[in-house]
Amino acid sequence: MTIAERLGTVSYRNQGRNDASAHIHVDTDICNSRCPHKGTTYMCPANCYTVDAEGLVHFQVEDCIECGTCMYACDQGAVTWKYPDPEQGLGVTWNLG
Ligand code: SF4
Ligand code: SF4
Repeated sequence: MTIAERLGTVSYRNQGRNDASAHIHVDTDICNSRCPHKGTTYMCPANCYTVDAEGLVHFQVEDCIECGTCMYACDQGAVTWKYPDPEQGLGVTWNLG
């Protein structure tokens, strides 16, 4: 099974909820104005951080598996973690622990 196929089996508490809040916020203005290395685009195992053809960083939280790497890897102050109220949904659903 490929990594992409494995990621496709992950389920999320937020799934299908329009009122859910993302647990990670990324200020991509920082990524695209002063980050010298764009490290998270190499480190995120779920490929949530991507670089487009113009070299701009984009972030999409939907595939995040809450590994925590970007929280520690970003040294530019662009990444904020904030778990919302459980009623608004959290993130990934861990089925095995
Ligand atoms: S390391 Fe931080 S500032 Fe740089 S691209 Fe990643 S999230 Fe953005
Ligand atoms: S917590 Fe892990 S999977 Fe989620 S966006 Fe950060 S590096 Fe990617």
